[in-house]
Amino acid sequence: MFFLPVYGQIYKIFYKLINNGLKKILPIFKWQLIIILTLLISTGILIIFGNPGFTQNTHLTLFPSYPRGSLLLSNSGATSPKTHPLPPSLENWHDTTNSGDYFEQIQTTKYGYLIWSKFPIQVNIETPTNINPKQAEKWVNQVTQAIMEWNNYLPLKLVEEPENSDIKITRKRPPLQIDPETKIPRARSALTTYQIYTQNDILTHKFTILLSPSQTGKYLQAAARHEMGHALGIWGHSLLQTDALYFSQVREPVAISNRDVNTLKKIYQQSTSLGWDIN
Ligand SMILES: [Zn+2]
Repeated sequence: MFFLPVYGQIYKIFYKLINNGLKKILPIFKWQLIIILTLLISTGILIIFGNPGFTQNTHLTLFPSYPRGSLLLSNSGATSPKTHPLPPSLENWHDTTNSGDYFEQIQTTKYGYLIWSKFPIQVNIETPTNINPKQAEKWVNQVTQAIMEWNNYLPLKLVEEPENSDIKITRKRPPLQIDPETKIPRARSALTTYQIYTQNDILTHKFTILLSPSQTGKYLQAAARHEMGHALGIWGHSLLQTDALYFSQVREPVAISNRDVNTLKKIYQQSTSLGWDIN
């Protein structure tokens, strides 16, 4: 008798709070997205690849994260694209199993394919400072292990200085992604972005990979392996779960597949303006 009206009141208050709260929160998320996009555009970042998070006990997100926007530099006059010689490790790669590739899924840019031509590619893995040193060391080791799997195909070198690196990897939560249909903000497990600029008249690019702190163990390694594939030029996703560049995370992560390497090799046989003089 006594409790019922009280519960009714509490319910009403909660309902109001939640309803008003959501109305207030949703526009904030929209604003955050606009601010993030503006920042990305103003710093000249071209395209972003993000990966939806993997919910272990519910469902796989079958929701490909395609590039969120693009901006091309207006002040550079890139010359017509040309091919670069393949590094020996990729030149000598031959898939005896004839597994094929997913080259048709790979996107190009105004400047051609995202191909590295100066080897070894300099990779900086930032040591996290907001966790204890032992955890930080473990994180760096796990990421290093996954990244260096690509060294079998393209020469990589780990460097201490983030400023001089071609690819910078950081343990940081990527900005939320707004679902274009439901407008609900979603977490991403990782995010890879690139910038194109000129250095001594050479058209150059740089990559940044953010790996979410929510990823650990084999999922952290799968995210690092996958994002590194993007940073090496695989700017697209495989439709097969058996490839490291499959568009969604899977329960049992896989190693770099023959199809991943076949695709990588085919990309490096294409022409690009990157790495060439702009004059
Ligand atoms: Zn991806």
